[in-house]
Formats: sequence, structure tokens, C-alpha cells
Amino acid sequence: MPVIGIDDTDSSREMCTTYLTVEILRRTSLDLIGFPSLVRLNPNIPLKTRGNAAISLTLGRGEGERRIVGTIDGEAVYSFPRYREEKMDIDILSIIERFSPKDERTNPALIISHERGNPEFYWEAVREFIDFRNVLGKVKGDVRTINGDVGIVGANAAISWPGERVTYELISYLDQSRWGGEHSVDDESAKYLEMNFQDTFDNYDFQNGYNAIRPTTKTPVLFGIRGIDPVLLAKHRSVVRSEPYSSYLIYVTNQGTDDHLVERTIDETKLYNSSILTGFLKDNPSWLRGGVLQFTLEDGHGEIKAVAMEPTKQFRLILSKLRKGDRVRVYGGVTKPGFINLEKINVLSLSTVKHIIPPVCRKCGTRMESYGRNSGFRCRKCGARTMKGEEFTERRDIQPGFYEVPVIARRHLSRPLKLGAVK
Ligand SMILES: [Zn+2]
Repeated sequence: MPVIGIDDTDSSREMCTTYLTVEILRRTSLDLIGFPSLVRLNPNIPLKTRGNAAISLTLGRGEGERRIVGTIDGEAVYSFPRYREEKMDIDILSIIERFSPKDERTNPALIISHERGNPEFYWEAVREFIDFRNVLGKVKGDVRTINGDVGIVGANAAISWPGERVTYELISYLDQSRWGGEHSVDDESAKYLEMNFQDTFDNYDFQNGYNAIRPTTKTPVLFGIRGIDPVLLAKHRSVVRSEPYSSYLIYVTNQGTDDHLVERTIDETKLYNSSILTGFLKDNPSWLRGGVLQFTLEDGHGEIKAVAMEPTKQFRLILSKLRKGDRVRVYGGVTKPGFINLEKINVLSLSTVKHIIPPVCRKCGTRMESYGRNSGFRCRKCGARTMKGEEFTERRDIQPGFYEVPVIARRHLSRPLKLGAVK
């Protein structure tokens, strides 16, 4: 029974589901097979923990060439490509009980199975809303839950993730004696990673002065470096200047893959779905209360309000330069019916925006003035009048191409433009 899936052992205030991996590996005498997986689920579901993360790992008697994927208390953690099945030698549920917050909104789930789950389940969990009550009978393996069964969806999604598109994250963990209080991770290190290593992403937000490799809440995690190459990530670890940490592990993840996004027409969008929609702006963008920028998108099948909320910062200023008639491809999630929250946009073509301004007087050469709505123009100097204004084409202040939210507002699943290959 070597395939393990765990979900929902953190809360909005403390812990991190991935830390369970450290405690499991510390105790088991079995070998780690492959990388541990960090799987992010549908980011639009309101009933979620902070990062909406689940983990899975496979344990057994390792075979084949081993590689180092981390250290725990200074000892190397090896991973093997193949394995023989062995009986589980530790009580994982008791580890979960010990390390998950005692909080009514934390609902841990554990699945231990002989095999990985059906990939269809993962795709549904990352893209749709799955009611945990419909999952109970379908899970293959031994299921344990604490405090309700909500976590089953994430745990089963984690063991069902096919890993078609992957990135990696190296996560370092503080020794338990250091968990409290403030922690130091040098901002300059995060800037250095961001500027010098094209294989890493979401390290530092230069526009907003935000160090994204350190967590913002209380957790055993000291820092996490995201990237596309696990061998390089292990090297980049030496770049980060920080207080001491006792362990680190490299996870394979679905972060930065856009796995949540599905190309749809507007009439096919549903609450909690994430979509890629292509259409035209039906109106000019407008600012709403709370710093929300909004425009109406239409595609011949329907229309939807495309919004960028305040936390997306500078992204809103870029969107505010769009005009009615522009053709765009938008990427985002429906968290409220009729509204899509944008993560990025591809501006496909710009419309020609014309304004009518008062013409120059043909008799005396003075710029005329408007005589009121639909009443034409009048020359103040010589009194001449005309109905015909001068056509003025607005110089557009935006170029076709991709634009995205800054690092500080990035969703875990959203693919940064830095990595390329955005659909
Ligand atoms: Zn005149």
C-alpha cells in the first residue's frame, strides 16, 4: 500500500500540508519513490485552505539509480525510480493528528492505496467543483479522515495527478524549535534568483517590492524556490541567504502549468470554472469602487464582466488602456456568476478609436468650439458655424501581446509568461 495522498492539514493561520512529508520520511524505513508531489487544486473554490494544496508520495523498497531530492536534519533523502511494494511501516494518521492544527476548518484526509488514481479525477478537481459526498464510495484504497470528509477530494486528486505538465519547488523547513516568531530570508537573494535564473519563477516582485520565496503566514516553511529543473533548483539553494533551516525537499508540482484553464465560449462558463475566452470588448474599461477595473467581453455566444481586483495592482493600469472593440484572449476564474477574474490577457488586436473635436475655422484659422451636444461648432472670433467636426484618431497606449498580474498576485497554478508556452 505505498501510494499516499494527504490533503488539508493546514489552516489559514498555521502549518503547511507539505511539512507532513518531512515527518513521514523522518519516521519511515521505506524509500521515497520519485519526487514527492505538491498538487494545487481549483483556486476558485471558496471552501479551501490557504494554498489549496494536497501532497502525495510513494514509498517502497527502492530499485534503480538513486538521486538526492533533499535533506532532513542533515541526512540525505534519496529517491528511486522504481520499487517493490512493501507494507507501510508507520502510522501516518497519527503524524497528521500530531501536526495538523486543531481547528474546525481544518479537515485532514489520508488515502493509502496500491495504485495511483484515475487522472480524470485530478482534471475534475483542478477545474470543477467536486462535492466530497460524491467521492466517498469511489476512492480506491484505505481512506481516513479527521474532522469531516472534505479533504478526500484533495487527497484523491493528489494521487490521481498524471503530471503531464510539471514544475518543481524546493521547500526549506525550519527546525520545530524555531517555528515561532519572525524569520529572515534575504530580499537580495530573491532578487538575485529572479534576475539571473531563467529556469526559476515567482521569486521576487520588483514592481511591488515583494519577496515571494518566503511565506506570509506562520508555517514551518522558511522559503520555497520554484523552477522547471530540479537539478538546477538544488544548486540555486546556495544562493539564498537566510537563517538556518534543518531540512529541505524538492517537490514536483502542477504550479505554473495552467492546468486549471479550459478554452471555452462565454456561454459555457460556470461558477468556479477557470477559462480562456476570446472575444471583443463591448465597452471601455471602467473603474469601480475598491480599485476594481472592469470591462464587458462578448464573443458571439454571450457576454461576461472581466474584472481585475485591487490586489492585481499594475495589471489594472494596463487593462485600463484597452478600448471598446479591442480583440482579446483572457485567462481567469469565475468566482461569482457573470464575472471572470483575470490572471492574464493576450491582446490580439487593437481597434481604431476615433474622436470628433472642434475643427479649425475655415475663414480665420482659429480653433472653433463646441456649440453643445449635436449642435455643431462655432468660431468665437468671427462667428462662423459648422456641423462638421474634425476627426481625431486616438494614439493607442498599449501594444498587442501578453500581459499578466504581477508576482504578488499570481495564483499558484497560473503559468508565468516568463516560462513561455502559454496556450
Ligand atoms: Zn473664424
